[in-house]
Amino acid sequence: MSTEINKDVACPGCGAKVPTRMWSGINAEVNPNLRAQVLDETLFDWKCPHCGYEAKLAYPCLYHDKGGRFMVYFLPKSPDPAKAAGIAGEFPQLRGVRKRITGSLASLKEKILIFEDGLDDRAAELVKLLLAMVLEHAGGGQVREGLYCSVDEAAGRIGFSFRLEGEAEPVRRVTSFAAYRRAAEIVDSLLPPDGGDFLLVDRDFARDLLRRYRGEPAPQPEPPKAEEEAAPEAAPPAPGPEPTPGEPPREEPQAQPAGQEAPAEAPSEEEPPAEEPPEEPEAPERDTTE
Ligand SMILES: [Zn+2]
Repeated sequence: MSTEINKDVACPGCGAKVPTRMWSGINAEVNPNLRAQVLDETLFDWKCPHCGYEAKLAYPCLYHDKGGRFMVYFLPKSPDPAKAAGIAGEFPQLRGVRKRITGSLASLKEKILIFEDGLDDRAAELVKLLLAMVLEHAGGGQVREGLYCSVDEAAGRIGFSFRLEGEAEPVRRVTSFAAYRRAAEIVDSLLPPDGGDFLLVDRDFARDLLRRYRGEPAPQPEPPKAEEEAAPEAAPPAPGPEPTPGEPPREEPQAQPAGQEAPAEAPSEEEPPAEEPPEEPEAPERDTTE
C-alpha cells in the first residue's frame, strides 16, 4: 500500500484552502497507476477547483519498487543523503536494496527507468558524463542536463538526451553498450557494493568517480579571498528536529505558480512542505491518515 496524506493547500491564485491528496510513499507494485503518474510527470500536478490555477506541487516522496529492489527518495530542492540516512539504518531488511535520493522529478523518473531496465545508474551516470564532455568539447555548448533514454542490448546501444545551454531542443546521443559495460567494471572496481546507504548519484558523483579512476587528486577547497571582509562569527545553523513517525508537517505546502515553472523537471521554487515520514518500507501495510 502506498501512503497517502491529505492536507489543505492554499491556492496562490484565489487563496482558497484546497484539500489535497499527496503521496509520501509510493509502492510501485501495489499502485502501478502512481508509477505511471511519476513517469508521465503528472503525479505532482495540482489544480485549484475554484479558480483553475495550475501548479506543480513538489513534496518529499519515497518511491519503492520491492520486486525491482530499489527505492528512490524524492526530496525537492534539498536531496541531502543525511535526511534519508535514518531510513536505511532503521530497516536492516533494506540492506541490498539500491537506495537513491534525488531533488528533481526528471531524475526520479530517470532512476526508475534505469533500474527497471536492469542497469546500474552509477555506471550510466559515468557514461552520460563522458558523452556530455564529448559534446562540450565538440563545441556543442554547456550541457545543462543529461538524461538516460533507453537501452538496446541486442543492438548494443544505450541512449541519452542532453539539454544544452541556449538550445531549445534536446540533443540525442547513442553510444555502444560496451561503453556502459566498461563503466560498470569501473564502478565495481572502485565502489563498495550497492545497497547500503542512500546515495545521491548525479553528475558530481560521476565526476568524482572519473577522477578516482584517473588517479587525480581531490579538488582543493577555494582559499578565502584576502580582500573580502571576514564574515562575522556565526553559529552554525542548528539542525531541524528529526521528523518522527506521526509528526504533522511543520509547514503548509504551497503550490507553485504554473506560469513560472519552466521545465517540469525543475523542483518547486517554493519551500517544500516539511518532510513527512516516508512509508515504513517493510512494515505491515497501512494507511496513514493525518
Ligand atoms: Zn484558486
